[in-house]
Amino acid sequence: MASSEIVPGIHMVRGKFAGEFGFISSYLLVDGEEALVIDPGTAGDPGGDRIGDAMKSLGLDVRKNLVGILCTHGHPDHVGGAGRLKRNSGAPVMIHRDDAELLRDPQMFLNERLLMDRAARFAMKLDKGPLRVNYRGIEPDHLLESGDEISVGAVKVRVVATRGHSAGHCAFYAPETKALFSGDEVNNYPNDPRKFYVDLSGSIVSKRAALDTISKLSIDYLLPSHDVPYLFRDVKLQIEAVKDGVIHLQDTILSHLGAREEADVVQLVFDIRRARSVPVPETMDSLLSTTVLVVLRGLKNAGLVRDLGNGVWTKA
Ligand SMILES: [Zn+2]
Repeated sequence: MASSEIVPGIHMVRGKFAGEFGFISSYLLVDGEEALVIDPGTAGDPGGDRIGDAMKSLGLDVRKNLVGILCTHGHPDHVGGAGRLKRNSGAPVMIHRDDAELLRDPQMFLNERLLMDRAARFAMKLDKGPLRVNYRGIEPDHLLESGDEISVGAVKVRVVATRGHSAGHCAFYAPETKALFSGDEVNNYPNDPRKFYVDLSGSIVSKRAALDTISKLSIDYLLPSHDVPYLFRDVKLQIEAVKDGVIHLQDTILSHLGAREEADVVQLVFDIRRARSVPVPETMDSLLSTTVLVVLRGLKNAGLVRDLGNGVWTKA
């Protein structure tokens, strides 16, 4: 099965299973002779041939009928396949300006977006997970702004910049079908909507604001990249659970910081993992430590913690 149709005109193209990250899905919007891809996935899967195969099974040709490649953000499991799909199709690649640099220079993800030491960075070179950088950079063809509308046939997709998971993260809303392509902002991991990470450019303040914005949209189909689609009444529950996860992690960090009086990120990560009170990413230590640092920065802006220098934090 090359793809499955979720709603008339929206097809899910499933990549291979990637452990904790679940199945990585690309979505294909089709109206008449035109098709639009949302997130081409990792390099080769589903990005390269699987999307082409899915189009073929719908009677479409990747070179003739693909009108655009929309990227929710610049992480390797979402844009790794963009270059190959662009070469195969000639379709323009579109991403928000604040993640465009990741498309141009994929190594930036490891060098600037995650809290990693040299050993962890070296380990990532050997890693076979979905966040590995095993593709060349490309120049984006169009930079997205919140409120932009992208057309595929007579269907319009609206850009909703969310900017929590990464500085350039966008969700895409199709008002006619009431479908939201939520990338990694709503349901970052399968099975537990409360579990999430953000990169160093991301923001907890933006994430919470984005969840409020999204809650106000009329959504019948919530279509994340790493999880199964959620329909109708389940949508609100998922969005609420994502919010809970963010608030719970903030509270957990504040309580561990209070108990230790002063702590650095390594100590807080140790406490969070040991307490097991909040679901956190299991694979790749840097995802949790990066998220903890971004949460601390948000709490600092809210006047709840103080940065004592040298990576040491305390409650305000
Ligand atoms: Zn991501």
